[in-house]
Amino acid sequence: MRYGFSNREELDHLPEFLEGLDRALQAHGHQLADVTDPEVGLVLHPIDPDAPRPFRRQGRGTYVVSIVARGPSPSGGEPYEAILARYYPAMIRSLANLLVVPLPPSADNPKRQAFVVTLERGAYPVRGNSSAEFYQGMYEALAPLAQSCLVIDNIFDTDLPQELWDGDEHTRSMAWAGARLEELDLLPAPFPIREILDERDFRHLKKLYQIGGLSYGNLSTRHEGNLFWMSGSGVDKSRLSVVGRDFLLVKGYNRERNAMVLSVPPHVEPNRVSVDAIEHWMIYTEHPEVGAILHIHAWIDGIRSTQINYPCGSLELAEAVAEAVRQEPDPGRAIIGLRNHGMTITGPSLEEIFARIEGRVQTQVPMM
Ligand SMILES: [Zn+2]
Repeated sequence: MRYGFSNREELDHLPEFLEGLDRALQAHGHQLADVTDPEVGLVLHPIDPDAPRPFRRQGRGTYVVSIVARGPSPSGGEPYEAILARYYPAMIRSLANLLVVPLPPSADNPKRQAFVVTLERGAYPVRGNSSAEFYQGMYEALAPLAQSCLVIDNIFDTDLPQELWDGDEHTRSMAWAGARLEELDLLPAPFPIREILDERDFRHLKKLYQIGGLSYGNLSTRHEGNLFWMSGSGVDKSRLSVVGRDFLLVKGYNRERNAMVLSVPPHVEPNRVSVDAIEHWMIYTEHPEVGAILHIHAWIDGIRSTQINYPCGSLELAEAVAEAVRQEPDPGRAIIGLRNHGMTITGPSLEEIFARIEGRVQTQVPMM
């Protein structure tokens, strides 16, 4: 992978951080390149969090990491909600996929430390007792993510049978489940992305990632065979109602085009399916006993968890979750943690999933 710095001078007061990252990337065989190189896979983009400048990438294959190069640092013990509140908007404004806040070592905290903020609203520390350990940790926090493959394209086939245009018992169960999520306070408010980005930057993001907004969580039910209904991208999960917009029928995954294939009614301007459709598709295909899947940004103590914070919609996250489901004693009733992110839960139906998790769910995901 080629990597580059959008503005090296901005990091001049963090020379150690800059060199440490540079060394770790080169030690793993990556080559320093100019950020205008169309082949560049990772751009390290120093920002002022109070006035972040956007980095406009050439294509989706470029992963942008904003590095906070100014302003007071959060203290080591600051709650992650406070870190998210301060830095999440700066990450969005700079059009980054990830944000890093390096903390200078101090007399009372001699360890090297940084906070990482993710698009899935995670905020977690990277620490090291030695410089070598810290930069290896930074490398592991950035490189696998920068090299992950997103499956976010959709192919719309307008072949949904007419008897499904108004949904069926599966979509009605999803509408019930979405409303139940709100009652249980498990639907975080979508991030107001349109309000904080100007028109040009919003169009840029929309063109690259086809996103209309940032909402969190999704749900699905098996229709028949390996076809399944899934919630649409960016929709209000507490008010699911329209087929083709709130509910999408997923027919499969087209490997050549790296896209999810959807069956939609001919008369509706179709919405995109949730980016995690690839993950649900893998689970339904492998485990015929799974009838429903719920993904929420919440946690239950003691669950099996993935190890790397791959982004939503990546093939790598889907494979890591599918592997964890496979390792469960009962894959048909699995509760899998997605590290620093949330849970994916399988069950015979959404009703069964809610009956199993109610009273056990904590709305705060532990960050580690
Ligand atoms: Zn998620």
